[in-house]
Amino acid sequence: MNRHERRAAASGARRGRNGDMPIASPAAELHQQIVDAERRLGSEILSKGLSPKQVYDLVDGAVALADSYMARSPTSPDALACGRGCNHCCHRPVGTTAPSVLRIAAALREQLTEAEFAQALARVVALDEKTHGMPWTLAERPPFPCAFLVDGACSIYVDRPLVCRGWNSADAEVCRRALAEESVEMRFDLYQRTTFAAAEQGIKVALGPHGLDATDLELTAAIRVAMENPDACERWLAGQPVFAGCEGKRPPAPAHRRSLPLA
Ligand code: SF4
Repeated sequence: MNRHERRAAASGARRGRNGDMPIASPAAELHQQIVDAERRLGSEILSKGLSPKQVYDLVDGAVALADSYMARSPTSPDALACGRGCNHCCHRPVGTTAPSVLRIAAALREQLTEAEFAQALARVVALDEKTHGMPWTLAERPPFPCAFLVDGACSIYVDRPLVCRGWNSADAEVCRRALAEESVEMRFDLYQRTTFAAAEQGIKVALGPHGLDATDLELTAAIRVAMENPDACERWLAGQPVFAGCEGKRPPAPAHRRSLPLA
């Protein structure tokens, strides 16, 4: 059986006997459970009022929710190759949302000195000048180190985007190769990826009833806006298109990637 036949068989196995009743996979069930939980949590937070504090609480709540699921992860950390100093994945574009970007900008303002903030912004601007608006294929957007990658490690680790929290790999060498080859097969922990992706999706769903923009954003372009404009959060809450032009340009789902099974 070749690779395409194996995929077709797996797809068929996820359907009922008559072939027209899809059966949710464990990952899909986990995703829906977390999206629903974050939607409820987010709605509760936003119903208290639309202020920057509520936006930051929304993100902090999503991280805490995802962390609580990660505490129950069936995957052994030994199955993963990720560790401090390994940063191949920090050379690819990062997709995120306005609340996450605004939360990071607020944390930088709170934690950094004026000089440190200016240095961080200078790195962000320098990268944005090279990458702004590029589609996210390797052919059109070669790897660049993230503006927050300092001395080989993430300088905003505690506040990093949800997608960065979810990203993981079973093989660092494959990650290195993936920076040069679009079609390389990745192996990763589906539980971790699903958990943080669902938390981000839950944020988006919670924004809807409040008329807040849930567009996918590219981290570098969006954080530049949030760092250069101290009133970005208030303006975004007021419905102004502060992140126009910062949209993520994610290619279609990478069908070549496969995952470690849920344990
Ligand atoms: S924010 Fe941090 S973890 Fe995410 S890509 Fe940048 S350096 Fe890496």
